[in-house]
Amino acid sequence: MSDCIFCKIIEGEIPSEKVYEDEEIVAFKDIDPRAPVHVLVVPVEHIPTLNDIEPAKDALLGRMVLVATRIAREKGVAESGYRILMNCNKDGGQEVFHLHLHMIGGRNLGSMVRRA
Ligand code: 5GP
Ligand code: ZN
Repeated sequence: MSDCIFCKIIEGEIPSEKVYEDEEIVAFKDIDPRAPVHVLVVPVEHIPTLNDIEPAKDALLGRMVLVATRIAREKGVAESGYRILMNCNKDGGQEVFHLHLHMIGGRNLGSMVRRA
């Protein structure tokens, strides 16, 4: 998609620090890292949100997770631990509407959700 920042990164129009690339998936460092390791794993195909994933694409999600775990090992955070998260739409905090998974680690991230 022409006005999508992640499509531009995938196509190399916008620079990024890529850490993984194949025909289906690209991973690059987040520009505003919340932890020492913060990588975004994105499908090459422009899929706006989690809500837009068709059942036939279930394998893509599995591959995205596997790519994230591989990068976690390469970055040395597999044993210390990390978090994988995906934000969906406004209440989920999604800012870029090209599907992506965050892999965050390298520090103690604490509890994800505060108890009410
Ligand atoms: P979201 O809130 O949509 O789940 O996360 C979007 C992420 O994309 C944010 O963590 C943000 O820092 C990152 N981001 C936004 N623009 C760019 C960019 O141009 N380059 C890179 N590498 N990351 C970006
Ligand atoms: Zn896109």
